[in-house]
Amino acid sequence: MPDRLSPEARSAHMRRIRKVDTKPELVVRRVAHRLGYRFRLHRRDLPGTPDLVFPRLRKIIFVHGCFWHQHDCRLGSKRPSTNPEYWLPKLARNVERDRHARKRLADEGWSVLVIWECETKAPDRLDRLIKSFLADST
Ligand SMILES: [Zn+2]
Repeated sequence: MPDRLSPEARSAHMRRIRKVDTKPELVVRRVAHRLGYRFRLHRRDLPGTPDLVFPRLRKIIFVHGCFWHQHDCRLGSKRPSTNPEYWLPKLARNVERDRHARKRLADEGWSVLVIWECETKAPDRLDRLIKSFLADST
C-alpha cells in the first residue's frame, strides 16, 4: 500500500482488504489450495451450484453463511428485525433448497461437506476438518 494515502483512504483500503481476507469461502479455498488439492468453483451444472468441487475425489464443499442458511449457532439464530414476514419464509426456502441439493448430490455419488461461516474463524480446527474430509477415501 502506498505510504502517502490519506488516513481516510488508508482505512478504507484496510477495510476492503480485511473484508476480502475473512470472506468464509476464500478462507476455505485457501486451506484446500494449501493442502495441495485442485478444485473447481461454483459448478452450475451440479445441484446447488457447489462452492468447491473436487471432481476426481467426487467430493464437494459448501461454505454457508450462518444467517442465510440458518445454522444452529448464535449467528444463525439471529432473527431479522424488520420484515419478518418476508425474511422468514425466504430463509426457510434456503434451508429447504440446501437439503434438496445435498440429497441430489448424494444420490449422484458425491460426498458433501458443509462448512459454516462460524467454523472458518477457528483456523486449526478448520484445517483438520478439511484435511480429514478430503483425505477420507471411504
Ligand atoms: Zn454458525
